[in-house]
Amino acid sequence: MMTTQNSPVYNFSAGPAILPDAVLRTAQQELLDYNGSGLSVMTMSHRSDVFMSILHHAEQDLRQLLNIPDNYKILFLQGGASAQFNMMTLNLAHGFKRADSVVSGNWSRIAHQQMGKLTQTEIHLAAHGGDLFDYQDIPPAASWDIDPQSAFVHFCSNETVHGLQYLDLPKPDGLPTLVCDMSSEILSRQINVSDYGMIYAGAQKNIGPSGATIVIIREDLLDRSDDSIPDVWNYKKHVIKQGMYNTPATYPIYISGLVFRWLQAQGGVAQIEKTNALKASLLYQAIDNSNGFYINNIKEHARSRMNVIFHTADKATDDLFIQEASLRGLSMLNGYKSMGGMRASIYNAMPLQGVEALIDFMRDFQRRHG
Ligand code: PMP
Repeated sequence: MMTTQNSPVYNFSAGPAILPDAVLRTAQQELLDYNGSGLSVMTMSHRSDVFMSILHHAEQDLRQLLNIPDNYKILFLQGGASAQFNMMTLNLAHGFKRADSVVSGNWSRIAHQQMGKLTQTEIHLAAHGGDLFDYQDIPPAASWDIDPQSAFVHFCSNETVHGLQYLDLPKPDGLPTLVCDMSSEILSRQINVSDYGMIYAGAQKNIGPSGATIVIIREDLLDRSDDSIPDVWNYKKHVIKQGMYNTPATYPIYISGLVFRWLQAQGGVAQIEKTNALKASLLYQAIDNSNGFYINNIKEHARSRMNVIFHTADKATDDLFIQEASLRGLSMLNGYKSMGGMRASIYNAMPLQGVEALIDFMRDFQRRHG
């Protein structure tokens, strides 16, 4: 939590998002001289021993935090999660007739639109949560129209814009390789990596600053990365070059590494998962107990623990809420540009006190404007 004139500022941005204070302070201390090297991490060669060690430790710490088995490779790529929509398809669907795609919110919808480009593979719509539920619920895995022969089924476990989350892993029968966009929830709860063929996530929510994108991929899937795929988009080439095919996003990787260590010091993913569940349940209770002043119509089992969306009866009141909240140090509470309303992103680095401060403000605002 940052402070201004000694009062706390809590950052509810959906991404780039809040980072732990302790991480930013370490980065500040080390900015000009990393570990006695006399150099800033920002200015040293990515091939230097010092940086290679930073990358290696970041990888190892992520492996430990998520309990990633040895037969999975970890890459820190660039281009954001959006680049993975296509990189993933080019690599994993190569030579396949069909790949399946579940649309459960804004980001998987965009992924679905983009995945078919530059590929011969048919991108089959397995389910559409907008058509089915107006994005107030998620298509249950049992309803997904998937083919075990498909290259993969792609889904997004937490929809940052619509505030929807698959809290239970979808495990439909005859599941093709599961590929998951975990951008806005990775490291927020325990997962079993072996359930997935590939997981990817932009760093700028629960990991670090924007600029690094994490890919966790099962080794055998690298056989699909055909040589015809340009090297820079080819997972196998990146793995062979141990993440040094070209210049990685060195500084974001360094900060991500600090966040991993911070998370270890918090007791790891199991511990933060408990705090995250508590934060989310307090906030949803505050919405549900407001006698309809604050509204979130999402089915309870599909409510995101990371991005809590809500609105009041009208836009003018929403705007006033956001404005007043900001003056109270509750920052970046506006909803996604096309959605309006409010969105409180309560990632790992958001302390419980931040959520409590938001709830206090919500009650106060309702007293004055309800
Ligand atoms: N997927 C999800 C779930 C996201 O939240 C976002 C970004 N908000 C993206 C994909 C796109 O990420 P990027 O901007 O890193 O391309």
